[in-house]
Amino acid sequence: MRGVQVKNAIIYSIGNELVEGLIVDTNSKFLSVHLKSLGYNVIRIETLPDVLDIIVRRISEGLSEADLLITTGGLGPTEDDLTREAISKVLNKSLVLNEEIANELIERALKYYNKAPESVKKQALVLEGAIVLDNPVGTAPGQLIKHNGKTIVILPGPPVEMIPVFESIKGELKTDDELYTRRIKTIGVPEAVLMDEHKDLLYSNPQITIATMASYERGVEVRLTGSVVLKEEIDGIVEQLTNLLGESVYALDDDSIEDVVYKLLKENNLTISFAESCTGGLLSARFVDIPGVSSVYKGGVVAYSNESKANILRVPKDIIEKHGAVSEECVSYMAKNAREIFDSEFSVSISGIAGPTGGTPQKPVGTVCFAFASKKGVKAFTYNLRGDREMIRKRSALIGFDIARRGIREWLRLEGNIKG
Ligand code: ATP
Ligand code: MG
Repeated sequence: MRGVQVKNAIIYSIGNELVEGLIVDTNSKFLSVHLKSLGYNVIRIETLPDVLDIIVRRISEGLSEADLLITTGGLGPTEDDLTREAISKVLNKSLVLNEEIANELIERALKYYNKAPESVKKQALVLEGAIVLDNPVGTAPGQLIKHNGKTIVILPGPPVEMIPVFESIKGELKTDDELYTRRIKTIGVPEAVLMDEHKDLLYSNPQITIATMASYERGVEVRLTGSVVLKEEIDGIVEQLTNLLGESVYALDDDSIEDVVYKLLKENNLTISFAESCTGGLLSARFVDIPGVSSVYKGGVVAYSNESKANILRVPKDIIEKHGAVSEECVSYMAKNAREIFDSEFSVSISGIAGPTGGTPQKPVGTVCFAFASKKGVKAFTYNLRGDREMIRKRSALIGFDIARRGIREWLRLEGNIKG
């Protein structure tokens, strides 16, 4: 077996404006995703101010931990742009003025501003032994230096300049090793419980990095990443964990929950419709993002007011009066009738209190009722969700799709023809 030593990388975003929170660091996000596809394990991202001592210290430390260090920002002509100086100190390499670049910068400055202050030359300072990386958009070129087996890449800060310079060296940076990633997407098991119950399996090989991400839109996602030589082992863990978690796993890898619902319907030639209240069409909007969904999706109604629930979805008025619009009784009628109105095999309905007002002691903000209807009948569920209005609505859409997924799978099991 080939060695499994994946190369480590650290990304440094440099600039006071980043540390002060005036701009959002999009460079690191871009670089991290791309470095991963080039085979690097990004061990961390650091945001540093324009302070020489700090940059020197952090980069020195990084050199002892990573194979590749990438900086963005701090290459401008002004006093506060210090990246070049910092790296020159760390590597103990001098900065040499590249006459050709200096002349270009001066020419450019004269052309655009009629003035060429001495400081523009600063951007033509190149580290001894560095490869100059042409910046086709801006002024300051990037640089690439190899030092004691490590690679340091210096990139400009503005994303429009950083991206093309980085693209130009992707071939050079590519490692022999490729990373392999699998994702397990779950709903219904809290992150801490999931990780605790399965820690022995998940952490069985320290060369496989485990990351989890919990979100109200996607549930809990567990990511396993390692060298491609560990592919079989990673696949094995994914299979075991998927079996252990059972129905809580709603998708693997790139599939979203709506993709899963779509595929279940499509493969079995079935159709669905939605009757939404508090989600205001979120379920429909997410579903129609899938190209080709028209073959399984009959349509949806947003019945927001009580009158609409009664007039369009034919929920009996006395049901709403007696139990309220947010009740299992009401959503059961919504799903059952939507199924008939749209002539679909299944229907999912949602009605809840997204807040911030409208809660009562019996039904606080976050109370959301769901129902799933098929020709076999209707099943209703009540959830107590936490969060603000947006979180409750987005979480409700996730649960709505999950109820569809579970309902369709159960229906298929009973029909004895489950696929997928
Ligand atoms: P310049 O020659 O333009 O000064 P520079 O390399 O010195 O280039 P900075 O001065 O650090 O770059 O940043 C210039 C601008 O680029 C910032 O004001 C910001 O708008 C953008 N920028 C810098 N770093 C980032 C980052 N990490 N993410 C997103 N935008 C950034
Ligand atoms: Mg700057």
